[in-house]
Amino acid sequence: MITEPTGPLPVEHGAGEGPSRRVVIVGGVAGGMSAATRLRRLDEAADIVVVERTGHVSYANCGLPYFVGGVIEDEDDLLLQTPGRLHERFRLDVRVDTEVVGVDPGSHTVSLRSTLDGSESTLRFDKLVLSPGGVSVRPPIPGFDRVRSLRTVEDAQRLSAVVEAAPRSAVVIGAGFIGLETAENLSHAGIGVTVVESAPQVLSPLDPELAVLVEAELLANGVVVETGVAVTAVTPTAVVLADGRSLPADLVVGSIGVRPDTRLADLAGLAIGPNGGIAVDGCGRTSHRDIYAVGDAVEKTDSVGGGSSLVALANVANRQGRRVADHIAGLARPPAPSTGTAIVKVFTRTAAMTGWNERRLRAAGRPYRCIHSHPWNHATYYPGAEQMSLKLLFDPFDGTILGAQAVGGSGVDKRIDVLATAMTAGIAAAGLADLDLAYAPPYSSAKDPVNMLGYMAENILSGECDVVEPDEVAGLVAEGWSLLDVRSPAEFDTGSIPGATSAPLDDLRHDLATLGPGPFLVYCQVGQRGHTATELLHELGYTARNLDGGLTTWRAAEAARTGTARSLVRPAW
Ligand SMILES: Cc1cc2nc3c(=O)[nH]c(=O)nc-3n(C[C@H](O)[C@H](O)[C@H](O)COP(=O)(O)OP(=O)(O)OC[C@H]3O[C@@H](n4cnc5c(N)ncnc54)[C@H](O)[C@@H]3O)c2cc1C
Repeated sequence: MITEPTGPLPVEHGAGEGPSRRVVIVGGVAGGMSAATRLRRLDEAADIVVVERTGHVSYANCGLPYFVGGVIEDEDDLLLQTPGRLHERFRLDVRVDTEVVGVDPGSHTVSLRSTLDGSESTLRFDKLVLSPGGVSVRPPIPGFDRVRSLRTVEDAQRLSAVVEAAPRSAVVIGAGFIGLETAENLSHAGIGVTVVESAPQVLSPLDPELAVLVEAELLANGVVVETGVAVTAVTPTAVVLADGRSLPADLVVGSIGVRPDTRLADLAGLAIGPNGGIAVDGCGRTSHRDIYAVGDAVEKTDSVGGGSSLVALANVANRQGRRVADHIAGLARPPAPSTGTAIVKVFTRTAAMTGWNERRLRAAGRPYRCIHSHPWNHATYYPGAEQMSLKLLFDPFDGTILGAQAVGGSGVDKRIDVLATAMTAGIAAAGLADLDLAYAPPYSSAKDPVNMLGYMAENILSGECDVVEPDEVAGLVAEGWSLLDVRSPAEFDTGSIPGATSAPLDDLRHDLATLGPGPFLVYCQVGQRGHTATELLHELGYTARNLDGGLTTWRAAEAARTGTARSLVRPAW
């Protein structure tokens, strides 16, 4: 029970009144602990107090789904540090099971309350760093109290105990990163899992033709996916959908997203940004000069649009924590915008992305061009090569890279990280052609997939080739364009775009007389032979355009458009 104080609260006077100053940090995980340890390295004299309301600091929240699924067996592996070790090495005063319940910027004090016995006290600060993270979104749906969250070690312990009781069915509400990781891990634990997502697709940072590949992977692994339908109620045994269906659910996990935790910022009267996060400047300082904020709670500067955005990712929180420590220690650092680079494992697939997707560019009215490719992660003659789907979005005038997405197996992480690095460095799309990237057959190809994107962007930006996106095909065919499938006859026989004529690339010069005057819309399996055929047709005086990403992208786009992800369950990776 929380006991209310009857007299004046005890005030711990900080070293700010002496020769060293006190920095109080709220939240002892990604952003908070990065700030604390960095500051100690820069300032041995500072009195650094980290206040954390749970029983753990510096825990690997990103590993929690894998603990629930038993992939990470020992809970201790999630605890990267303990208060004792942090004191030993960094002389940090870490106070777990203690919540900051108030901030008074005027008197430079925070109010603390023990989550164990409710005792209260007040702590002075010279500088305050807020890293309270996000709050799970819990919509006002009847019965939602039954829905479990996965944010803390304590949440994971509770969920793990439920999983050990061997429930037969689980519904995961929300098909974002954490929802899909949770679905995979519950499935590994032998539970029949359904993922429900009100958006029309899983993983909304991906465009539909890539998201559908992730959905196919979920289906291939026995996870039921319900997209485009909202949950309207949760009963003791089921989840009720807006279309009236009722899904049996011994266990329900909610992963609908997080919103910035601004409770302390509100109490302190700090400015809030347009997206509902704490507003900070390039150094992480809030509207109060002695209060900083980092991580999921704050608005970030977006590297593509330049405006404010919310990015709830660990890398960003860690970087911000370090930068804030630098600023407190008097080191000037340039502001670092966020590209929102993210990655997730879904069974045997990896999905990764950076920057903006097509949907967001379109909504913002920003012109763009896109390229789809389906490269192999390394030389195909070396055993174990895996194919991926890669998409690049760039400015049609100056080639600025606006975003990239990939779904595949091994090597997806590397390509997206290279592209994110290029974006940060201001390397334009055509510049990717000239990157010196490491190559040996087990790792890549002499022309790395990223170099290939550069070649393709160069061709488009120079006007040398003109590509067609899958959603343009039907319109062009209706206008009278002849659809040519330039793959081999054997490939054509395995299926083609309706209305296509088989015109194998190697016979094209010979067959041209029989193909009519054009104009030609050319495609192959992934776009490469189609490009060669298009260039040949141009040389011979015909009008021709190549289908971006070939039949593979077209099929994915069609599956996304028609809601038939199952048709991709055995894709030709
Ligand atoms: C299950 C899960 C998986 C994730 N996986 C990934 C991933 O794979 N990759 C990735 O980039 N990101 C991932 N994230 C997101 C990532 O963990 C967050 O972006 C990151 O931890 C944010 O750091 P933060 O410091 O802002 O907040 P957090 O790390 O959430 O830390 C905030 C801490 O502040 C404490 N706190 C809040 N209010 C108070 C208060 N008033 N007093 C005292 N303490 C308080 C909270 O208890 C919490 O421990 C994952 C998150 C979760 C929950």
